[in-house]
Amino acid sequence: MVYKSTRWLQSLLFPSQCRLCGMATGTALRLCSHCLAESPWIRNACTQCSLPLPAQAEHSHCGHCQKQPPAFDTATALFHYRPPVDYLIKQLKFSNELAIVPLLATLMSARLAMRAAALPSLLVPVPLHRTRLRERGFNQATELARRVGRELGIRCNHRLCRRNRDTRPQSLLSPNARRLNLRNAFSVEGHGVSGHVAIIDDVMTTGHTGNELARVLKRAGAERVEIWVIARAG
Ligand SMILES: [Zn+2]
Ligand SMILES: [Zn+2]
Repeated sequence: MVYKSTRWLQSLLFPSQCRLCGMATGTALRLCSHCLAESPWIRNACTQCSLPLPAQAEHSHCGHCQKQPPAFDTATALFHYRPPVDYLIKQLKFSNELAIVPLLATLMSARLAMRAAALPSLLVPVPLHRTRLRERGFNQATELARRVGRELGIRCNHRLCRRNRDTRPQSLLSPNARRLNLRNAFSVEGHGVSGHVAIIDDVMTTGHTGNELARVLKRAGAERVEIWVIARAG
């Protein structure tokens, strides 16, 4: 009875329903503690590109990063790109469910606020080409970056980088074609950039997009570039 009345009081104070199971969450977060615990969190990953690694992996870096380190210094991914996280991201991207942004952004901010390493001074969302932006009406990476920036007190600049070509999805291409597909895809606008930057996106698939954008940002003057994504495929 006490439990029931506590739940009732919580639901009055925090009327959020879980996005996944519909239960009252009892907090401001729209994901209940059960669904949060059951989500596919990445437990062990390459410290440079965040590729999930087996729990007993001997090295801190994956084989790709050992052979050919990417242009970015480190990457943070919260989840494997698997159910139910892939469902949330698809809802955001393809069903215009912008209400999912605060949930994903809060999870990202909470994870990053805990770390010991210094936070960046600038957030840069992976830009969409203007054709794609017109079709979708918003860039999910920009929406995430703005919200995370507000929560962590970091400046966000969604106009710094431009996508010059409407590149085809990387997942549909062979490894060589991926590199060619992204050549000259991005440019930095204005007077360049300096200091420590984090690139923000919803999903990291092959890592080629983040790598290309990091390369362009470093060429424009960034000293350190990291990548923050909600989910990592692979
Ligand atoms: Zn739930
Ligand atoms: Zn790696």
